[in-house]
Amino acid sequence: MLIVQKFGGSSVADPARIGRVADRVAATVRDGHQVVVVVSAMGDTTDDLLALAGAVSANPAPRELDMLLSTGEQVSIALLSMALAARDCPAVSLTGGQAGIRTNGFYAKGKIIQIDTRRVRAELEKGRVVVVAGFQGVSEDGEITTLGRGGSDTTAVALAAALEAGLCEIYTDVDGVYTADPRVVPDARKLEVISHDEMLELASLGAVVLHPRAAELAKLYAVPLVVRSSFNNGPGTLIKEVDDMEQAAVVSGVAHDANVAKIGLFDVEDRPGIASRIFQELAREYVNVDMIIQGAMRDGRNDIAFTVSRDDLPRALEAVRRIQDQVGAKGITYDDGVAKISIVGAGMVSHPGVAAAMFEALAEAGINIAMISTSEIKVSCVIRREEIEEAVRVLHRKFKLGSGS
Ligand code: ASP
Ligand code: MG
Repeated sequence: MLIVQKFGGSSVADPARIGRVADRVAATVRDGHQVVVVVSAMGDTTDDLLALAGAVSANPAPRELDMLLSTGEQVSIALLSMALAARDCPAVSLTGGQAGIRTNGFYAKGKIIQIDTRRVRAELEKGRVVVVAGFQGVSEDGEITTLGRGGSDTTAVALAAALEAGLCEIYTDVDGVYTADPRVVPDARKLEVISHDEMLELASLGAVVLHPRAAELAKLYAVPLVVRSSFNNGPGTLIKEVDDMEQAAVVSGVAHDANVAKIGLFDVEDRPGIASRIFQELAREYVNVDMIIQGAMRDGRNDIAFTVSRDDLPRALEAVRRIQDQVGAKGITYDDGVAKISIVGAGMVSHPGVAAAMFEALAEAGINIAMISTSEIKVSCVIRREEIEEAVRVLHRKFKLGSGS
């Protein structure tokens, strides 16, 4: 079988760890598999490189930043290939561009638009392990672009999809996907299997084991995924198409995201085109909007509130202030002291009362809900940031997700 294995920065943080990764890759080859490896930069290299850039310039050009950051992964691929060769496991390192990863031209937030797999396939045919630099690709103009922080997961899943790999393994420093963040809930349980839908929700809601874009790609191309630890031989969490939704857990996990800010526009005009105007302006600023709530509470006027990630708050505020008059908004408010808590479960669709149970548990803990949004498989609430950990624990208990329950 063709397997894509991705190792994050902590898994290749030093020579000894690179050696252990090489042992694991070589063992996979000995088991009879073809292996494509995707690696991140060693340890905190990307942060260190960013700091270096900041030390020479207050405002480094995005092109040069990408040129700089892409070197981190190149160190890892070369070292890992050497370590593999030292284990009599023939390997070749490839940059994103050499591996045929074509991106759109956006520096620092490139998107993979296509992968020409010929080179990778040819190397596999020669019996080599192909070690690909994560987090980077080359644009049509030949420019190196990076995929945004944490982008190596996306590289791995995209390669697995393009190569039609039988499995994509994401090796990281945790044992898998948990029912909640184990640092917040000590009796959080590792999940054996979840659906792509659930993984996507958990990833976008702040459970950080897999980058949300990778989860999205995995779902789109039905790539079978495993998230597991590179420090032990535990089986990890399998993410796949779950065929029997009737069997699915009503609530499989509680996710939280403290990196949230909320913006409200009140008293905007109630006529067609207003919401579109507002969110177009935000899209123009590349602000990802998450929850959106509009209520027509009074005659002819609407209140619109939405959440964005806290880093995007300044740009989002700029955008809405620019169009405040156009949409007739009487006022703009914002709050960067909020957080989002969500329960996720594929079985929710067929079980009424899940949202009610969530609200009840929060109410019993005296936690006020500022915003609510739902989908078929999740319910999310915006609450005060200082109450977020308490909320996670309360909901984990309410839905009996712990190992002891
Ligand atoms: N090295 C990059 C980062 O730290 C990409 C990655 O680790 O996935 O963001
Ligand atoms: Mg990293």
